[in-house]
Formats: sequence, C-alpha cells, structure tokens
Amino acid sequence: MKDMYDLVVIGAGSGGIATARRAAVYGARVAVIESGRLGGTCVNVGCVPKKVMWNAASLAHGMEMAGDYGFKITRQGFDWPAMKKKRDEYIVRLNDIYKRNLNLDDIVLIQGHGRFIDAHKIEIEIETNGKKQVIEAKHILIATGGRPMVPDIPGADLGITSDGFFEIENLPERVVVVGAGYIAVELAGVLNSLGSEVTMILRRETFLRSFDASLRETLMEEVMNAGVNILSCTHMNSIEKQEDGRLHITSTHSEDIRNIDSLVWAIGRNPNTDDIGLDKVGLSANKDGFLETDEYQNTAAERVYAVGDITGRAALTPVAIAAGRHLAERLFNGQSEAKLDYANIPSVVFSHPPIATVGMTEGEARDQYGSVKVYQSRFTNMLHSLSEHKPKSSMKLITAGAKEKVVGIHVIGEGADEMIQGFAVAMKMGACKSDLDDTVAVHPTASEELVLLK
Ligand SMILES: Cc1cc2nc3c(=O)[nH]c(=O)nc-3n(C[C@H](O)[C@H](O)[C@H](O)COP(=O)(O)OP(=O)(O)OC[C@H]3O[C@@H](n4cnc5c(N)ncnc54)[C@H](O)[C@@H]3O)c2cc1C
Repeated sequence: MKDMYDLVVIGAGSGGIATARRAAVYGARVAVIESGRLGGTCVNVGCVPKKVMWNAASLAHGMEMAGDYGFKITRQGFDWPAMKKKRDEYIVRLNDIYKRNLNLDDIVLIQGHGRFIDAHKIEIEIETNGKKQVIEAKHILIATGGRPMVPDIPGADLGITSDGFFEIENLPERVVVVGAGYIAVELAGVLNSLGSEVTMILRRETFLRSFDASLRETLMEEVMNAGVNILSCTHMNSIEKQEDGRLHITSTHSEDIRNIDSLVWAIGRNPNTDDIGLDKVGLSANKDGFLETDEYQNTAAERVYAVGDITGRAALTPVAIAAGRHLAERLFNGQSEAKLDYANIPSVVFSHPPIATVGMTEGEARDQYGSVKVYQSRFTNMLHSLSEHKPKSSMKLITAGAKEKVVGIHVIGEGADEMIQGFAVAMKMGACKSDLDDTVAVHPTASEELVLLK
C-alpha cells in the first residue's frame, strides 16, 4: 500500500501545485509528478520571467522620459547578460520555494514523465535513472499545461519560441516575431523597448483580435510609433540560414526579410495531452488537443479531473490555480458544489502601454444584449504632460439593461495593469454604472477616469 495516494497530480505547474497543496491541507495523501522544473510554464518560461523583462523595458521607457523631467541622464549601457543572470537566479529561488512548500505539506514529488496505466494507476519514467515506477491513486488530476507551437514550414526550427526567448544570451539586433496573440505582442514590445529592431508578422490585419477594438487600435498606433515594423496579412514561406549565420525569411510580403538575428514563433500553444496515455482511461482530446471537462473539472473518466491550460479555457495562471483549489475543496473538504465561475475573468497584456480587460468586448455585449451603452474616454496620462510624445490612454465601459449593469471594462494606458483588479471585484459583485458614478474619484490618477465617464 506504500504507493497508494488519495490524489496524484500530473504536472507541477500553476494548477497542479495549487490543487495538491489545497488537498494536503485537508489531510489528503498527495503525490505530484513533474517532468520539468517546478512551477511549470508561469514560473519558468511564462508570467514571471516575462514580467521581469517587461519591468526592464518599462525602466528603459522611464529613462527615455527622465530628460523631460529635468534629469541629466541618457539611456545607455544595458547589460542583458547581467539582467538575465539575476532573472534566472530569481527563478531558481522560486523553484526552491516550491520544493520546500511541497515538503512542508508532506506532498511526495516524483520527478519524471507520468502516463496512465488505467484510471487509478500512473506509470512514471523516472528522470534521473530512466526506471519506471507505478503509483496508485483514488483521484487523479491532469494538469500538464501546454507547449509553444512551431509551424510546419521549411527552416522553422531555425526560429525559437517563447521558451527560447528566455534563453537568449544577448540583446538581438534584428528580430522577427511571428504571431498576433498577447505573447507575440509582449515579446515584441520588450525587445523593441530594450533596443532591438523588431518586425512583427501577422497573418491577418491586426493583432489581439479577440480584444475590444478600442484596445488593439490604440496599441497598434503606439507599437508603430515606437518603431515596430508591422507586416499585416503576411504568411511565412521559409527560413534559411545565411552564410553569416543570420536568417533569411521569405513570406508572402513582396520583399524577403534578411539579416535577422532571431526569429520568434509566438503562434499559439499545444496542450500536453498527446503523451499521457489518455486512451488507457477511455479519454480523448478534442480536435484542438484540449481535454474537455464539465464545470466541476470532471473529465469523462470517473475520478479523473483536469485543470489549467489543457482544458482550453482561459489559459491564465490564476484560472488554473482557482480551478484547482475549488476542485480540492470539493474532493477533500466536503464542498460538493465548489467550482470556478469562469465569467468575468480579468486579464492584462504587458504591452507598452499595458492593456487590462474584464468582461465582454463591445461586439460580444451587442451580440448578447442587443442594445448596450458605451462610455469611452481617450486622454493623455499626466505622466506624459512634460514630454513631446504623448501616448494616448483609452478606457471603455460597457453597460447593459435598464439598470446599466457593467458588462465590460477595457483599459489601455499606464497603470491599467494595476487598476483592473479592483474594478473586476466591483463587476463580480454586479456593479452598475450608478455605483461607479457614486464612487468619489482618486485624483490625480488615470483610474479616476473610470468613475467619471459621462
Ligand atoms: C510567455 C508566456 C507568458 C505568460 N504570461 C502570463 C501572464 O502574464 N499571466 C497569466 O496569468 N498567465 C500567463 N501565461 C500563461 C500561464 O503560464 C499558464 O496559463 C499557466 O502556467 C497554466 O498552468 P497549468 O497548470 O495549466 O500548466 P503549466 O504551468 O504549463 O504546468 C504544466 C506542468 O506539467 C508538466 N508536465 C507536462 N506533461 C507531463 C507529464 N506527462 N508528466 C509529468 N509532468 C508533465 C510540465 O513540465 C509543466 O511543469 C503565460 C504563458 C506564456 C507561455
């Protein structure tokens, strides 16, 4: 009985660790299987190192603006290797903290690749010695996350993905970022801010297509003002290595792109559902590779659950964590109705300036409610009052119904990232426009605009 657990979790990323730790609080005997580094995507190749890079880029912007405020400094001497070393050390510290926390909670960590044998048994290929170990569990959670996609075109492997981005040893001089999602926008923005010459290749007209039009239009303007070259409606054909080691890209754009130091694929992510033995428990992924669950995170197999990116719903760290914690409450704390409400999940794009959003876009709200009221403001943040370049902030509030319930908030501009959480609470509580009107503004801030919209 030594290897019998109440819960076995495959994948020690955001969702897996959160579920395991919450289950352990209630006395469950838990094992976690991880084939890579503790913390998963977010800690190692996602949110955390990305935010460090965004902070570095924000400092670069600050230095550019410092002269407008009378400082006699110029922007020079950015030491990418020094920054990378400190960033990597920080992440190793986080890995250690995760390990310590699992130990403190008496959670058994098994380092290796896990696959189902049946609905109660998992076989693990142990990382250090290649041997196989089998463990049994009453409940099994799949939280295996995803990995970046690379297209199937000649020379694609000459490019890197977001994983490779975090391994870059020096600031590349000329970069092409392919993709239109938030990761593409963020990586392109960071590289541009830190001094690379960046070209973005988009398959369609614009990036961030699922976001409210007010956000992507304002960001598009800012990104182009910042000097990023955008090639819209462009399909990649092939990549070759030049004699000097740099890359030569052919696409449907009229001119070839030459002398590229780094090509970054940011075209989406594939869920890790293909090598975990789903068939052994009668499960299969959907056509996009995701493992579907009901609202309680149950898969179609009894006592097998899934949370996080593999479920194909709102691929964000706090979503994976919250879904996992609710699941643990349900399984091990008698909260039979515990489940995550997936409505009104706030999110941020760490672009320059940042984007923050919660609720429906204007288009979605019109589709759902027919008639909606839209309040909008476009203004220059006071931060730029002494500067020549005056990037625009934009805010949009969408309300529906006779009581004007707030159904969408979309912000782009300095501070958007830090202001949305509070407004998301208000929305979750069912705030109406009159509640915002009745709230006294905090002055002078950008967020006050949201309670002053007319
Ligand atoms: C560049 C980038 C930036 C991002 N920025 C943000 C952000 O700012 N904010 C935000 O909320 N989200 C962000 N995300 C998304 C966020 O990282 C994910 O939503 C989150 O990590 C998903 O958690 P998860 O538990 O589903 O999977 P993961 O965190 O990916 O964890 C899955 C784990 O399972 C392991 N695994 C896989 N298969 C097996 C197996 N068979 N056996 C054992 N172990 C296995 C993997 O090694 C991995 O450690 C970002 C992602 C990327 C790529």
